[in-house]
Amino acid sequence: MSFVVAIDGPAGSGKGTITKLVGKKLGLINIDTGATYRCVTLEVINRGYSIKEEDKIVNLLKNIKIEFKNDNEEEKVFLNGKDVTNEIRTKEVNEMVSQVSHIPEVRKNMADFQRKIAEGKNVIMEGRDIATNVFPNADVKIYLDATPEERAKRRMKQNEEKGIVSTYEEVLENIKFRDYNDKTSSVAPLKQAEDAIYIDSSNLSIEEVTEKVIEIIKSKKD
Ligand code: C5P
Repeated sequence: MSFVVAIDGPAGSGKGTITKLVGKKLGLINIDTGATYRCVTLEVINRGYSIKEEDKIVNLLKNIKIEFKNDNEEEKVFLNGKDVTNEIRTKEVNEMVSQVSHIPEVRKNMADFQRKIAEGKNVIMEGRDIATNVFPNADVKIYLDATPEERAKRRMKQNEEKGIVSTYEEVLENIKFRDYNDKTSSVAPLKQAEDAIYIDSSNLSIEEVTEKVIEIIKSKKD
């Protein structure tokens, strides 16, 4: 028997942070679905393919092995046996991952893979189409949201911590652009599942959202 918690929401809504914290507190395995798309993208870059070479990209899916391993409390990502935990977060991957993740065959393949690694386990997964597409029968479905302005503020803070220089206007514009792309995408658009619980985190702290999510999960488990 497995128990699945699905958390979807737009960029900057805090899904990643909340999923990690809740997973740790409740002992649920956290599967980073974004990392799976990042691995495919890294392989595309390493092979020198362009995004237009869809046939070649689809073909390489056959020869790709993605593994998640826990190393001294640290979640590591392996691609064909090599530790790529940091390599999948480079600027080059950031710039291409969204396009790669929009190729229907890539999405289908990754969704199957995500279902397979969750099999028989108690998991918490975050993404954009987890509750609507990957796990339509998830035990708990949450849609985490916040205003574009609040999400831009959070992203600014993250950028500052990473030493990335950006203006508020730039970041806000990028958030709105990604929202538009995510919500109007013809492939797995971002939308709230009908039976998902909506949380607006605009005026909530990380601790408050974590508590809220834990409460919801506990109420469903009982
Ligand atoms: O979450 P992360 O930023 O690592 O995701 C990288 C990219 O992968 C996203 O910008 C999105 O294009 C794609 N993605 C997706 N579906 C998911 C997770 C990520 O399309 N479930």
